[in-house]
Amino acid sequence: MSANEVRQQAISAVTNRTPVDPTTGGPLSEIWAIDVFGLATMEECLSKNAFKEMKKTVQTGAPLDPATADIVAASMKDWALQKGVKFFSHIFFPLTNITAEKHDGFIVTNPDGNAITEFTGSLLIKGEPDGSSFPNGSLRMTNAARGYTAWDPTSPVYVMNTANGATLMIPSVFFSWTGESLDKKIPLLRSNAAMDKAAQRVLALMGETDIETLNSSCGAEQEYFLVDSNFANARPDLLLAGRTLFGAPSPKGQEFDDHYFGAIPARVQVFMQDFEDKLYRLGIPAKTHHNEVAPGQFEIAPYFEAANVAADHQQLMMTIMKSTAKEHGFMCLLHEKPFAGINGSGKHVNWSVGNSTQGNLLDPGTTPHDNLNFLLFCGAVIRGVHLYGPLLRAVIASAANDHRLGANEAPPAILSVYLGDQLEAVFNDIKEGKLGASNEGGMTDLGLSQILSFERDPGDRNRTSPFAFTGNRFEFRAVGSSQSVSGPLIAMNTMLADSLDWIADKLEIELAAGKNEAAAVADVLKELMELHSNVIFGGDGYSSEWHTAAVEDRGLHNIPTTADALPAFLDESVIGLFERTGVLSPAELESRYEVYSEQYILSIGVEAKTTAELAKTVLYPASMAYVSDLVSSISGAASIGVEFETGPVKIIAAEANSLMAAVSKLESAMELEEFDTTEAHMQYCAGTVRGLMDDVRQHADALESEVADEYWPLPKYREMLFIK
Ligand code: ADP
Ligand code: MG
Repeated sequence: MSANEVRQQAISAVTNRTPVDPTTGGPLSEIWAIDVFGLATMEECLSKNAFKEMKKTVQTGAPLDPATADIVAASMKDWALQKGVKFFSHIFFPLTNITAEKHDGFIVTNPDGNAITEFTGSLLIKGEPDGSSFPNGSLRMTNAARGYTAWDPTSPVYVMNTANGATLMIPSVFFSWTGESLDKKIPLLRSNAAMDKAAQRVLALMGETDIETLNSSCGAEQEYFLVDSNFANARPDLLLAGRTLFGAPSPKGQEFDDHYFGAIPARVQVFMQDFEDKLYRLGIPAKTHHNEVAPGQFEIAPYFEAANVAADHQQLMMTIMKSTAKEHGFMCLLHEKPFAGINGSGKHVNWSVGNSTQGNLLDPGTTPHDNLNFLLFCGAVIRGVHLYGPLLRAVIASAANDHRLGANEAPPAILSVYLGDQLEAVFNDIKEGKLGASNEGGMTDLGLSQILSFERDPGDRNRTSPFAFTGNRFEFRAVGSSQSVSGPLIAMNTMLADSLDWIADKLEIELAAGKNEAAAVADVLKELMELHSNVIFGGDGYSSEWHTAAVEDRGLHNIPTTADALPAFLDESVIGLFERTGVLSPAELESRYEVYSEQYILSIGVEAKTTAELAKTVLYPASMAYVSDLVSSISGAASIGVEFETGPVKIIAAEANSLMAAVSKLESAMELEEFDTTEAHMQYCAGTVRGLMDDVRQHADALESEVADEYWPLPKYREMLFIK
């Protein structure tokens, strides 16, 4: 069999692909949230009192009494059994970016051997998976492995349908026997509570009397690639590392900008519809989809929801994207940089905070200059990003995201805030002591009588900013496509809580001194701007001038790699922030540092081993087969007096030799295992190991461009990237 038979088969299989029939469907009104045990279903199933209690818990986080939990569990079970469900599972969110679940049957047998179903409040409330294999940093020893899951009633229970049956899924927190968080949900809930508490203080000082619980909201735009599964399955690097570790550039890439917002290929359109119908059944409000910049790249954005629910939905969405893609003959790549040389994928986390009484506190309204509540909350964010920029960089750090950040396709690894012209002017006025100076947005008039003129947005968009104000929310644009949104949300809520407390302390003093609210706000924000306006930047974040100015003139941090970023978790100011706000104890924080560092080291390790193995056992043999055929052709031709140039074959042979030399360097580098600190180990991965992998790749990609096409075993970029 020729080395590239798999590739050739993939090419012909792809040519004959047609769109697959969706497995779900139906009008929105019929499918919306039908697999969710949400408030609407509960109102039907529960007694009036039980429903009232549950609603209060869902909306305000008030505790639920055990008797009500029993009633809820019973009606949950009946609802699920009717849907053909036999198993239930607490689903939780360990410190990896994926979810975990352990399924239990509703079944119990009685002494007569008959099967009955059972599901009580206590089974609903608590589960106990053997947690020893989940990453926990140094929080637990494996011989003390108890880990508990506990129902989070503020995120709806749902039924997950798969080809293998249906399971009742119960969103849960996950913690150790000693009560420490081992997951991403507990700190997210705590960060929300901390933000609520601090926001209540500020709003009360501003004279608000009726203040409902504040919640953060999140709308995440998810970018992803689709690759035909015939190609993906022939690429061990995609299967093991989630990205191509080799691949010469395609002669045509994204240079025509012809993919962004282009017509969606038929197969992809059907995939999107099917996938979105599945989301609708689960009550996930899929709203926008379009082609992204790179060929083969797409985006989906659901409508925003309460952060805790949005975070659970985001995880669920990633799971369903992958499984639905499979049904449609695709592999869905959520990796931040699956292909070198073309754009990678991010996840823009849109975030705001508000409640039902004061509304969205990041909404400037039409006159931002005199909207005092808005100015305080926006100012609090500015202070947060300035003080905790390195933390924001740390929560988006991963081996994969390092390829994007700072690579002129995604926001730089320097955290700054973009406000837009109008708002930037308002805050600059505040710094000059001029609160309330008007700054109108103005109207846009195209001079066409048939097109109505409309009010201009207060600021333009800035695609190069990692953290941009976009009208009524902030958009954290540097988050990676495969990452959980919880880390960023925890950091943003917590830094906001801290800043609002700082503001409340200052306001208290000013108000006690007899100032009115407007004068007090003006003074506090003036001080805030004097301390923190350096973080506001409206220019081109990709430019080299900014990279220099940010660090040298503004004192901001440029943090290019995960190895540089993660130690921020151990920084005293960050430990203090989390401890003060009650979001993470120092031990919980340190365990996170350990887990994330280990994951970084392991990811680079898998990539390095895959690189060495593929180069040695797949690419070198293919190149040698070609060399040896060329050599026999040349000598065969010589025997009948025909001379071929030997130059080309020598070039390929030399490249193949260099490839093997680079592989052996990489392999010996991988043998080093003793490091004084985790940080030193990470730096070694970021510098030495990554550099050696790049060397191997360079030679392999050069060979790909020299070796005859019919010998090349791995599907090529030009084949994989363009979906027909
Ligand atoms: P764009 O690509 O123009 O930034 P999209 O429409 O693709 O915008 O996505 C914007 C996301 O922001 C959506 O998920 C949307 O629901 C969300 N969003 C809108 N308003 C808010 C808000 N106040 N708080 C949080 N998220 C919001
Ligand atoms: Mg978008």
